[in-house]
Amino acid sequence: MTGESRTSALLPTFARADLSFERGEGPWLITPEGERHLDFAAGIAVNSLGHAHPHLVAALQEQAAKLWHVSNLYKIPEGERLAQRLVDETFADTVFFTNSGAEALEAAIKMARKYQYASGRPERYRLITFEGAFHGRTLATIAAGGQKKYLEGFGPKVEGFDQVPFGDHEALKAAIGPETAGILIEPVQGEGGVRAVPPQCLRGLRALCDEHGLLLIFDEVQTGVGRSGKLFAHQRAGVTPDIMAIAKGIGGGFPMGACLATAEAGKGMTAGTHGTTFGGNPLAMAVGNAVLDVVLEPGFLENVERIALLMKQRLAELKDRHPGVIEEVRGEGLLLGIKTKCLNTDMVAALREEKMLTVGAGDNVVRFLPPLIIDDAIVSDAMARLDRACTRIEKARAALERGAAE
Ligand SMILES: *Cc1c(COP(=O)(O)O)cnc(C)c1O
Repeated sequence: MTGESRTSALLPTFARADLSFERGEGPWLITPEGERHLDFAAGIAVNSLGHAHPHLVAALQEQAAKLWHVSNLYKIPEGERLAQRLVDETFADTVFFTNSGAEALEAAIKMARKYQYASGRPERYRLITFEGAFHGRTLATIAAGGQKKYLEGFGPKVEGFDQVPFGDHEALKAAIGPETAGILIEPVQGEGGVRAVPPQCLRGLRALCDEHGLLLIFDEVQTGVGRSGKLFAHQRAGVTPDIMAIAKGIGGGFPMGACLATAEAGKGMTAGTHGTTFGGNPLAMAVGNAVLDVVLEPGFLENVERIALLMKQRLAELKDRHPGVIEEVRGEGLLLGIKTKCLNTDMVAALREEKMLTVGAGDNVVRFLPPLIIDDAIVSDAMARLDRACTRIEKARAALERGAAE
C-alpha cells in the first residue's frame, strides 16, 4: 500500500494519489505492476526532457563517479560554464544557483532590496505582486504570493509585499509608493490557473519600472527553460527583466534553481551578503548543463512551439466536442490548461482513470505540462484520453440527472 495509507511516516502535507511508479521512459511513468501512465504533469513542469533521458542519465552518472559536492568555498567549473551559458542566452550578466524555486525567489527578493539600498534608497524595500501568484512556500515567498490558504496560521506575514489584482493597471499604478523597490510577476501564472500576461502588459510593466526606478523581476520557475516554446517566456514579449528566478525545468528532475540578474541589479550582492551550502554543486551543474545541451540544440525549441500549437488546436477541438465540460483553453507553449465546467479535481481524476497524469491549478483549471520531448503521436494519444475522460464525465453527469428525475 502506498499513498494515503494512515501508517505513512511522512508529514501529511500532500494529499497524494494512491499511485506510485518504479521507472520512467520519456513521457511514460510505469508502476511496479507494469501499468503505463502518460505523464502530462512532468513532476509539475520539472521533467522537461521526460524520464530517463539518455543524455541526462549519462551526465549524472559520469559526474557521480567523479565529484558530488565541494561547497561554494571553491570554484566549480561546471557551474561557471552553466552560468556563462545562461548569461549568453539571456538579458543577465550574473547567476546565483539555488536548490529550488523558492530559494531562487528569496535570492531575487533580497537582491531587489539590496539594490535599492546600495543605490542610496534604503527605504525602498517593498515589492508589488499579483493576485493568484505563486512564488513558493518559504515565509517570504508565501507573503509574496499573498494567498490566504498558504499564509493562515503561520504567524505575521513577512512585511514588504503589496498585492494588486491581476490585470488591474490602475491599481498597479496606485500601489507604487516611495517604499516600492520593484514588481514581481510570473509571465504566465501557473498555479494561479494558467493565466498568461499579455505581451503589451509586460512591456507596460517594464516602462513603469523604468519610469519609477523600480526593478522588474520575473518568476520563470514554471515557464522557463523551453516550456513556453522560447527559452524563457518573456523573450516572446521582447521585454527583459532586471532579475529572474528559474528552477523546475533547468534540472530536468535534479533539484536546482537559479537567480539571474543584470550586473546593475546585482550590484549590492557582494561577498558574504548571501549564500547557500548546496546550491550550484557539481552534480546539479552537470545535469543543468546537460539539459541546456538538449534544449539549445538547433530546432528543439521550434519543435516545442510547433507541438504546442498542435496541442492547443486539438484542445480547442475537444472544447467544441465537449462544450458542457471544457469552458476555455489557456496557456502558452507546453504550459496549457483547460478551465472545466466540472470540478477540475474530477477531471484530473477522470484523466487518471484513463492513465493520463495532469495537475490541477487555481480558477478550476487542469494543467497539461508534458515533457518538451513529446511528438505528434503522443499528443494524439493524450487527446484521445482527454476525449474519453470528457465522455466519462458527461455520462456520470447524465446518470446523476436521470437519478434526480426518477
Ligand atoms: C513551483 C514554483 C515556485 C516554487 O518552486 P519550489 O521549487 O517548489 O520552491 C515558485 N514560483 C513558481 C512560478 C512556481 O511554479
